Amino acid sequence: MTTVAIIVAAGRGTRAGGVLPKQWQMLGNRSVAAHAMRRFADHPGVDQLVLVLHPDDIGTDLWPTSPAADVVTGGATRQASVFAGLQAVEGRADKVLIHDAARPLVSANVIDDVLRALEIHQGAAPAVAVTDTLWHGAADQVTGVQDRAGLFRAQTPQGFHLAPLLAAHRAMPADATDDVAVARAAGLDVAIVPGDEDNMKITGPDDLARAKRLMGQRMDVRCGNGYDVHRFGPGDHVWLCGVQIPHGRGLQGHSDADVGMHAVTDAIYGALGMGDIGQHFPPSDPQWKGAASHIFLEHAVGLARENGFDISNVDCTLVCEHPKIGPHQAAMKAALAQIMQIGASRISVKATTSERLGFTGREEGIASIATVTLVKS
Ligand code: MG
Repeated sequence: MTTVAIIVAAGRGTRAGGVLPKQWQMLGNRSVAAHAMRRFADHPGVDQLVLVLHPDDIGTDLWPTSPAADVVTGGATRQASVFAGLQAVEGRADKVLIHDAARPLVSANVIDDVLRALEIHQGAAPAVAVTDTLWHGAADQVTGVQDRAGLFRAQTPQGFHLAPLLAAHRAMPADATDDVAVARAAGLDVAIVPGDEDNMKITGPDDLARAKRLMGQRMDVRCGNGYDVHRFGPGDHVWLCGVQIPHGRGLQGHSDADVGMHAVTDAIYGALGMGDIGQHFPPSDPQWKGAASHIFLEHAVGLARENGFDISNVDCTLVCEHPKIGPHQAAMKAALAQIMQIGASRISVKATTSERLGFTGREEGIASIATVTLVKS
């Protein structure tokens, strides 16, 4: 059984403020839509993601390349966009979860409940019972009270078995508010599962602010450290934090012996609780002999991203008497930023001597220590 999450991000709504549609506004360091995608990518019951985009957004860098998703061009209405997504997975999926890209905080529990309900129903969707008193009003006057019994506020993801929903879309010519309306028009049964107040839809600027507050409460912050030493030997240059520096001696090691980059890499593995460089790239394996260390760092950064973490900052200290690091600091930051795909302002490279004490003071080798912070929101 294959379950596909279709994230509908084709709307043009800009009521949340700014010039970008709400799904592309930033919440922390990723867009609203990217958060929504991450919720489904992280859910064990979801096998694949489809991202439905507005035609104008296809050629832009607005939409995230991670987590991986099949990109589909949407239509003029929400219904047309969903239909495009459904057609794209026809024959490849049994169940679909259709989700508004503007609901970035959907929980695993809500997704679980929808999937579980689909075991016995043709459709299922989360909703929250209306608890506020509902009024009718006109010209700023209350004109009546609406009985709220049996009223629900609909949320997404709305889940369906694919084949009957596709048939329902094909049979429905007019524009529908959502897929539950399409399904019901075709006679499909749709179960209500408990929604979640935090599964809010970003519409106005207040919603963005509230989502930021909620995300701050949920944020998963990890810190890791790394330490490395390489000994000097014959040579005419050293590699430090991705920069080649002419020097009277070289650093010895199985790879290019970039002691700074190794410490940063180990700090990332450490924050993830996923071992160290030696474990992922065994020195006994000849394929890593002389390897450029960016391979190690790219691997660690990739693992962090796969696990939903962004790299918030990196602080790396090199301990040596020579070469002098100052003239190369900016180039080192730029090299690490390029490899890690983060802004150079999130990276610090600094240096200290050890006052001519110890092995670094005697210039027998170079040591490096690094700290990294990872954030999942
Ligand atoms: Mg090393």
